[in-house]
Amino acid sequence: MAARILDGKAVAAEWRREIAAEAAELERRTGVTPGLGVVLVGDDPASASYVAGKERACSDSGFFALDWRLPADSTQADVIELISRMNGDPRIHGILAQLPLPRQIDEQAVIETILPEKDVDGFTPVNVGRMLLDLPCFLPCTPHGIVRLLMHAGIATSGRSAVVIGRSNIVGKPVAHLLMRKAPGGNATVTVCHTGTSDLARFTREADILVVAAGKPMTVTGDMVKPGAAVIDVGVNRVADASAAKGFRLVGDVDFHSVSQVAGWITPVPGGIGPLTITMLLRNTLEAAKLAAGQHHPTV
Ligand code: NAD
Repeated sequence: MAARILDGKAVAAEWRREIAAEAAELERRTGVTPGLGVVLVGDDPASASYVAGKERACSDSGFFALDWRLPADSTQADVIELISRMNGDPRIHGILAQLPLPRQIDEQAVIETILPEKDVDGFTPVNVGRMLLDLPCFLPCTPHGIVRLLMHAGIATSGRSAVVIGRSNIVGKPVAHLLMRKAPGGNATVTVCHTGTSDLARFTREADILVVAAGKPMTVTGDMVKPGAAVIDVGVNRVADASAAKGFRLVGDVDFHSVSQVAGWITPVPGGIGPLTITMLLRNTLEAAKLAAGQHHPTV
């Protein structure tokens, strides 16, 4: 294997220790404990497992976490009413509505109910707009984690070619912006590929940094990668595996076996971007708590 592993789990552990120390210091000085409110609607097992991971991370970091579980047949009004209450709850500095929401609920309406100063996912139009204008805001957690990981590993982005596969609001679009903005971890020349792209490999082979967020296993194979490239695999896909205790295993969007023979750097799945996403959520919640304590503005 040629590629060096970008060990998101280890990096996340290091950053979480720093966050826990800052949270303890904030509490000592101001009496404010960072608090995260989580809304989970329905019983999708993947969502339930993400929420459990976020709650564990909160308690490990000394945060206060309140989680509300609503039945799958809840109405949009039920969810909006709950979020409105969380907006007014001084113990809660960050609010997270676990997506996807059941079909009868308009996700955008729910997101837009969250106060921008409690929007620790960075999904509200105010935060997205501020991000695009390079103003202080809460950055979306997965894209922020990706850029920070590249910086932590000393992988240069400035002047290099970055290709993003995926144009979703939560990963593709914002990571493309962070990679292109004139800031540390940015200043790359960015190409965004999506389902309308013909001949995907023509673009991926030019990438010094390749971010894959397609949500489909085997989207990228070794023959599609430039030798020495940094490959960031964002995908989390469940594939049936009778030999696994749960009956499935998690794989990314990248064929790890063939890509790791060619790439210079690669993130594993699991243990790559996932732990960093949760860590950036903790970071944003801490910044929101500092803001509530009158200390800081959330930072880009
Ligand atoms: P999405 O389904 O909203 O978007 C997928 C995007 O990929 C679309 O824009 C589509 O145009 C593009 N795409 C799909 N197949 C393609 C192909 N063959 N060629 C080119 N483009 C293609 O997904 P999302 O919410 O952005 O998530 C993407 C993946 O990342 C999923 O597997 C998701 O579970 C995972 N994810 C992981 C984390 C984490 O913390 N690790 C966070 C968010 C999402």
